Amino acid sequence: MCKKITIIGGGPVGCLLAVYLAKRGHSISIFERRPDMRANSLGAGRSINVALSDRGLRGLEAAGIIEDILSVAIPMHGRMMHAVDGTESYLAYGKDGQAINSVSRGGINKALIECADAFENVHITFNHKCTHVDLPTATAHFEDMQHGSEIVVEADSIIATDGAYSAVREVMQKTDRFNYQQYYIEHGYKELHIPPAEDGSFKLEKNALHIWPRKQYMMIALPNMDGSFTCTLFFPFEGNPSFASLQSDADIMQFFSEQFPDAMAMMPTLLEDYKANPTSSLVTVRVFPWAFKDKVLLMGDSAHAIVPFFGQGMNAGFEDCRVFGEMLDAHGSDDWTELFHNYEIARKPNGDAIAELALNNFIEMRDLVADPEFLRRKKAERILSDMFPESFHTAYSMVTFNHMPYAEALKRGKMNEFIIDSMLEIPNILNADPELHRDELKKLIDAYELRVKAS
Ligand SMILES: Cc1cc2nc3c(=O)[nH]c(=O)nc-3n(C[C@H](O)[C@H](O)[C@H](O)COP(=O)(O)OP(=O)(O)OC[C@H]3O[C@@H](n4cnc5c(N)ncnc54)[C@H](O)[C@@H]3O)c2cc1C
Repeated sequence: MCKKITIIGGGPVGCLLAVYLAKRGHSISIFERRPDMRANSLGAGRSINVALSDRGLRGLEAAGIIEDILSVAIPMHGRMMHAVDGTESYLAYGKDGQAINSVSRGGINKALIECADAFENVHITFNHKCTHVDLPTATAHFEDMQHGSEIVVEADSIIATDGAYSAVREVMQKTDRFNYQQYYIEHGYKELHIPPAEDGSFKLEKNALHIWPRKQYMMIALPNMDGSFTCTLFFPFEGNPSFASLQSDADIMQFFSEQFPDAMAMMPTLLEDYKANPTSSLVTVRVFPWAFKDKVLLMGDSAHAIVPFFGQGMNAGFEDCRVFGEMLDAHGSDDWTELFHNYEIARKPNGDAIAELALNNFIEMRDLVADPEFLRRKKAERILSDMFPESFHTAYSMVTFNHMPYAEALKRGKMNEFIIDSMLEIPNILNADPELHRDELKKLIDAYELRVKAS
């Protein structure tokens, strides 16, 4: 039976979900608190970019916009690390040209709004902010941001895709036995800018994600189609150095000249950008349940907001839509209580796993990529994945170039560490011809495979 569904939040996940549901004949109303980004200049200025990888692309297949998105994406095949003295070192992400894609976040959102809006059974209302929901009746209240009036919308179900600070989740928090955990890391972030060279070319290697790891903090840069890079400084709020300690213009300039001299030379508007751009916080949100009967379901960041260090938040949200679509197709009944419950049970462990993986990856990016022991382990990992491409996968590739459940990628990633420990006990293994140890290494992998299966 065709259902009347209210989607609250017209971000990337809400719009993609609308496409999945509209294709199955449901009647969808999206309410978005911001203006229509197709009509205003949002996104026309400096681009904020995100890394789109396999899970996200797989989710987007339903919308049929992969070609369009990839035509304005820049593949990043590996990480380029920049030491303080300007030395660069490169680490490929995967093999055989595997890459993650730098895309404009606004661009993807606009394309998805366009795609959802093309369905007759999707109606999008902008400038409407959800202020309250009545859970038992799936009734939502919205404030018209332009006129100040209130509207009330009834539906069979509400799906909340209103992001990390979800208004719908806030209402669910007041229900009995609702678990809620919110965790801010000590670091915030600030976006900065490297413009293109005068001839329009890229000032840094175009097809890489650039990292300036500085142990307690780091800066990264992702390429944009116009030859520029969007940089993000991940930096503690307090302490020394920190956002709090850089007070004057001189403090800011001195800090960058000491820590990021090569990048600073490419950032003519550093000071203006640093002072004008906001400092934003980074939160992980874990909640359960995600559903209230067949009336309300949380999806995307509203269910599992994570820190951005694995580049997976949006990818995970697109995977939510795909998994929900598949479960909807397999679910033979009109009673969505069971559907919502099965979805939350299936998906919650994966939300928790990617949250953990993302927090761990911050340490790897800011600190370990400059650590010789870490690079030794990466070398071992690469040897194993080259020798045994069918049976050994790096944690990064399981998350990024694969679509096994995140929880399994987390479990297997932990097992990999034990395999590498055992491998590094073989004398001189990284310098000798690894083929000489093929049988020994294969036995190791097989033994751990059995442990993964048994656990
Ligand atoms: C610095 C940074 C870098 C990131 N990099 C990556 C990356 O490389 N790769 C990746 O996959 N992910 C990345 N992410 C995460 C990604 O941006 C999010 O996971 C993704 O945007 C979540 O999509 P969403 O639609 O669930 O929520 P959102 O994008 O937050 O969209 C929610 C929508 O709901 C609307 N809304 C909110 N409240 C209301 C309300 N009360 N009423 C009506 N509408 C409302 C908002 O205006 C918004 O349009 C990054 C995040 C950050 C902060």
